[in-house]
Amino acid sequence: MQSISCAYTGASTPFVPFRSPEESDSLSRFDKNEAVDSAIWVPATALPAAAASAADAAAGGAAVGLGKNRDTPPCNPRQYRPYIRQATAQRLVSGYWAKEGENLRGSSVAGCGRWKAYGAALVAQVVVESGQARMGGHFICGCNWTCEMCARATVARNRSWLRGSLFPALNEHGKSGSLVTLTLAHSYDVDWAVPVAALKAAYGLFDKRMAKVYRKAGSVGKFKAFEVTIGRNGIHPHFHILVTHDVDADLVAMESAMREAWYKAVADAGGRCTDRGFDFQPNRLNDYAAKMEAAHELSSQSTKQGRKNGKSLSQTLDAAGRGDLMAGAEWQRAIEALGSTNRFHAGSLSRNLDIPTPSEWDDEEVRGEHDSLEVLAEPLIIEYSLDDHLKATHPALGRPGLAMILRAAVRGGQVKVRMMVDALCRYSDSQRVPSWVPTTEPWAVEPEIIRTAKLRPLTREEVGEYLRVTRPLAAVK
Ligand SMILES: [Zn+2]
Repeated sequence: MQSISCAYTGASTPFVPFRSPEESDSLSRFDKNEAVDSAIWVPATALPAAAASAADAAAGGAAVGLGKNRDTPPCNPRQYRPYIRQATAQRLVSGYWAKEGENLRGSSVAGCGRWKAYGAALVAQVVVESGQARMGGHFICGCNWTCEMCARATVARNRSWLRGSLFPALNEHGKSGSLVTLTLAHSYDVDWAVPVAALKAAYGLFDKRMAKVYRKAGSVGKFKAFEVTIGRNGIHPHFHILVTHDVDADLVAMESAMREAWYKAVADAGGRCTDRGFDFQPNRLNDYAAKMEAAHELSSQSTKQGRKNGKSLSQTLDAAGRGDLMAGAEWQRAIEALGSTNRFHAGSLSRNLDIPTPSEWDDEEVRGEHDSLEVLAEPLIIEYSLDDHLKATHPALGRPGLAMILRAAVRGGQVKVRMMVDALCRYSDSQRVPSWVPTTEPWAVEPEIIRTAKLRPLTREEVGEYLRVTRPLAAVK
């Protein structure tokens, strides 16, 4: 096990070297090679009931809040990378917990697609439909900063809402919108929470002071997106804001008022502003192409390559997944700094325009993509032991197990899934991944909380007890 040092806290974080599934080794052979020697295919021995949950605890997982009972986003076999990023994030939140003894916000990514949703049957379930596979009835973490899969779903929904709901409504009401980017100066060696907090505080002041200007311009509200990149000067937090206004509003006056107000607000919030701290792009909703581009700018996950201000969180995960320990530490540091920051905020737009909110928005665009395959055959349902699933997808394995299982489901259905799960379980046994092994030690008696964790996602109050009970396990290796 290697260990990385955080430049800021000086703390080192255990980080198991991550091997990508593309590398040839005994495991990926099961996925790639059709002709697996049946002689070496031995069913994985079933773990004791609590094994998987305790293994989860060793990973620092905590099911904060109740899971939503819906399926994971489908896995497109051509889009395998998001799952690898999710797996990398699972390992980084686990490493943080093992070192710091507390959870990063968004640590429940460790259970995304792994634990069962509240009230769902306690069996692992894969649903294959139209050439795509997803986990059915599993816990969806909903973490927009740590979980690549959940973040993608949120980004897609917000973008779809902008294009399909907000823009047409603005058009109907004779309104347009301008794009504003707000940021401030930052450096690598400060606590990264400082620029994040200063940006939010400055925005609060700015927004209050702009109220009159907005009213005069006929604004019906703003759509606000918080974004971060990581670069030479550390975390780069910024807001992309769509400010609505009358089609014939005096945008020159508005821009200059906003610019002045922003510089003043940053100074008042204790920050520093450079020339690049304020950017204004007038009337960005003039035609179809401009609208598409604006929606993209306001809501994107990892599609922008080589951003000038550094790497996105997704790109940082890619680097961490390739074994870049510095990138892993930076990602943890960024997530720590973000805390409870909201990613998207539509304010009073929905109320003022009488349209659904982004979270109410029925994502027709996204669903349309999936329905485009005309053959609507009966979905294939594949079920197997939840214990095996938790073991096979355990972050400490250093494998994107979820991705490997879903891909196996698309390629070879039940048989391939079984082989993949068994191979991952065998690999887990051979690596002696920390798990719940009954011995005569007192702590080996299955505590109540471990049983509960197997049955449903834990409440916030229960998580503390869960971590207390299972903490010694992290040390068992
Ligand atoms: Zn998630």
